[in-house]
Amino acid sequence: MSGPSGVGPGGGGPGGHNEGSGFDARAQSARSSALRQQRAELKAELASLQRDFVDTFDRAKDSDDPALHGLRIDWFLRSLPGVGPTKSARILQDLGINPRATIGGLRINQRTAFRRELVGLTERIQPRRLVGRLVVIAGPTAVGKKTVISQLCEMRPDLEMSVSATTRPPRPGEVDGVDYYFVSSEQFDALIEHDELMEWAVVHGTHRYGTPRTPVLRQKRAGKTVLLEIDIQGARQVRERGEEALFIFIVPPSFDALAERLESRGTEDPDERQRRLATAVEELGARGEFDHVVVNDVVEDAARDIVDLLQATTPRGD
Ligand code: 5GP
Repeated sequence: MSGPSGVGPGGGGPGGHNEGSGFDARAQSARSSALRQQRAELKAELASLQRDFVDTFDRAKDSDDPALHGLRIDWFLRSLPGVGPTKSARILQDLGINPRATIGGLRINQRTAFRRELVGLTERIQPRRLVGRLVVIAGPTAVGKKTVISQLCEMRPDLEMSVSATTRPPRPGEVDGVDYYFVSSEQFDALIEHDELMEWAVVHGTHRYGTPRTPVLRQKRAGKTVLLEIDIQGARQVRERGEEALFIFIVPPSFDALAERLESRGTEDPDERQRRLATAVEELGARGEFDHVVVNDVVEDAARDIVDLLQATTPRGD
């Protein structure tokens, strides 16, 4: 997670007490060789697809691990199966990136262009049957997302639900690690700080919710279809990150139906209901940002529509 041992800052710097002795040179050389070793391990993990290329690239920018942050872009690119020196040089030239640049040190426009290229390249090297994907399901408050999703999971037991982390306390019957990872505010801060969340948001102006990145990517790498039931702000972040996903928006059959549903579930007082309805109006305006809109009139029908959508949009025969 943090920097590798033995390669931290300090020691051998200007003004160090070993100045002038051969020790500095030896320490320097030991550090360089440790760094080389770590980079070689990193490359090997990338080349054997144990590590996700796009995720590694995303982490590099803010990483304090010199082996990662300072990895040369041409090295990184050439770890991709099928990318040799010639292809790597051509790609970097096309993107206007110096091959000696480091993956953590690219300018923003270079980063965006390189990431796009990388996503395309990695898709091509995924083993055919192991193409997992993300499905983001969002919708306005009280639209009945949870009910539709549990019906959907009954119809397609092969789907994996991502388990979010939240600072909200558990409700009766909710199980830690199953419904959510219930964490303290400090733990949530640490997840953000260590870049462990794919997206996160404050929902309904109260608690924070976020999608842990590692389990999602691991399941996706294993060829699974992973469902993220998240709010609209979170869905936007997933899209902005350039994450390949199918974005589904669930809507009520009418606004009145939504208001009725909110009232009949009786979990909010009238003020809170008004507030949520106002939010819902705003949220409904986001439908155009999604790939597909599913109407939740009858739960089974809505779940069946999603099953059909998954089938129709499956990337390569799973
Ligand atoms: P609840 O507290 O009722 O379980 O969930 C409240 C809202 O939080 C739901 O609308 C749900 O979509 C959203 N939510 C749950 N997990 C996540 C998450 O990981 N990220 C984001 N952005 N929203 C989430």
